[in-house]
Amino acid sequence: MTISPKPSIMDITLYKGGASSVAGMTNILKLSSNENPHGPSPKAKDAYARAVHDLHRYPVTDHARLRRAIGDVWSVDPDRVICGVGSDEILHLLAQAYTGPGDEVIYTEHGFAIYRIVALAVGATPVVVPERERVIDVDAILAACTDATRLVYIANPANPTATMIGQAEIARLAAGLPERAMLVLDGAYAEFAEGYDGGRALVEARDNVFMTRTFSKIYGLGGLRIGWGYGPRAVIDVLNRIRGPFNLSGGALAAAEAAVRDTDYTEKCRAENARWRDWLSTALAERGVPSDTSTANFILARFASEDEALACNVYLESQGIVVRHPKSYGFPHCLRITVGDESACRRVAHAIGQFKDSR
Ligand SMILES: *Cc1c(COP(=O)(O)O)cnc(C)c1O
Repeated sequence: MTISPKPSIMDITLYKGGASSVAGMTNILKLSSNENPHGPSPKAKDAYARAVHDLHRYPVTDHARLRRAIGDVWSVDPDRVICGVGSDEILHLLAQAYTGPGDEVIYTEHGFAIYRIVALAVGATPVVVPERERVIDVDAILAACTDATRLVYIANPANPTATMIGQAEIARLAAGLPERAMLVLDGAYAEFAEGYDGGRALVEARDNVFMTRTFSKIYGLGGLRIGWGYGPRAVIDVLNRIRGPFNLSGGALAAAEAAVRDTDYTEKCRAENARWRDWLSTALAERGVPSDTSTANFILARFASEDEALACNVYLESQGIVVRHPKSYGFPHCLRITVGDESACRRVAHAIGQFKDSR
């Protein structure tokens, strides 16, 4: 075959989404993709249903109404917001616009798999930095920076660790980066972390910080693929030149706008998650399965060994419960468990208790 892609593309390992089935079983409890167990706001569903009448129309290209709604609710300047097909698209656009062969893209040891994919997709060199006890280490990142560093991707709160670093640490990271590097703060779980702005204030204070957010997690719209970014005006302008003009469908735009404006519903989901997340981590700890304090909508449950984690995974599947074994993230001895609703949390805690008792 003489037609071949950029070499780095063949180094990409296919992204695997959370499993959603167990062979031979129906009525699965899916806790593998950090989805909102309550689903989206009823207002978002209504807006999506109404969009069926306009399926023959092209959607808008400027996303003005959605950007205005995001601006109103999250106190950001709509002119500096870009909307994408999930935040994944925005992470890709940043890499496409700002890096290429010879450039370095930093992410951390347990960082989200997409960061490596977006770097390799454009031929940039991935640079993996160690974490400290499952927490991002700002000094290690700063030490890894070179003149070739262009982008630093970190999720805060992070997936799959569920840990986060404080605002002062993020500010120190942004201030310490080399001149040509930009900090990308992936805020997919920012809404779950009490009193955290996702990096909004830092974006406004500096010209080298970009924040991404998503409708896939707290808003319960993972199936529609909508995310957004907030950054320096010049960066937004660059990204808008390369994004597909009709990247978001009319139905997705309408649902997202209704979802973001339904702040009562969002707050209810946030509070429910916080309550059952704390209950679940305590319940598992009592059963001999510890986890770090989670600031997101999942917990990273630590087992004694890879064998024990795998055996527990098999047992959970036998009970119709699907979680994630995050081996590829450097956690062969862990299971990542999404915080479901009350009955889901009770069911998974009960099953893990039975598993531990049987050992
Ligand atoms: C789920 C998740 C996202 C969201 O991706 P979308 O493309 O918006 O669905 C982004 N970053 C991290 C770390 C995630 O876990």
